[in-house]
Parts: sequence; structure tokens; C-alpha cells
Amino acid sequence: MRRVIELAYSGSEKLYFSKEQLVGKVVYNLKAKKIGSVADVLYSKAGVAILVDAGADQRLTVPSSDIVEIGDIILLKPPPSEVAAIIKGECPKCHFKNDPHARFCKECGTLLQ
Ligand SMILES: [Zn+2]
Repeated sequence: MRRVIELAYSGSEKLYFSKEQLVGKVVYNLKAKKIGSVADVLYSKAGVAILVDAGADQRLTVPSSDIVEIGDIILLKPPPSEVAAIIKGECPKCHFKNDPHARFCKECGTLLQ
């Protein structure tokens, strides 16, 4: 049974996962920060979401559109606040925190957004 599951993961993106395959998987965001583990799979007219047990009685609902990859772990897009933090002045090259309105990085001269 386990072998079949592992085979199903390698290959194309257009694969479906059963609830049993998803529950218990560890969830990370793109910054390799551990969010928690899948507690349940939720269904609605709008689509599917995973319920993530983030510890300390905290549960997060993550729509499937926020999932980047499903493998041995589940990888999520960063939340909008983190994306904004990257755009606002932080240099993509050296990660120096510039003034939010800066056009060039003070540290290495890279053109900023
Ligand atoms: Zn820089």
C-alpha cells in the first residue's frame, strides 16, 4: 500500500490525493517554515481546502489554490503579508532592508521593485 502511494507522488502534477494520503502530512511554507500538519480535508462548492493543525489549538484553513506542491510534505505559497514584506524595500539579492520607497539597494545596488 505504502509503495503505491510513493509511486503516485512521482510524475505529473495532475494527480489526485485521497484524504487518507493527505491527513498527517507536514505543511511548510516556501520559506521552509513549518506550519503544522494536515488534520482534515474540507470540501465546498468553491473547491477543496486542507485544515492544518498548527499546534496550541490553532487550526488554519488553507484553500487548495494556496498549495504549491504535494509530495512527502505539503508546500504552501507565502501569505500575502510575507509577499508584501519582500516587495517593500527588501533586496532580493542580499536581503538588505532598504527604505520601502528605495529604487536601488543601498548595500549592493540591485534595482528594487
Ligand atoms: Zn542588495
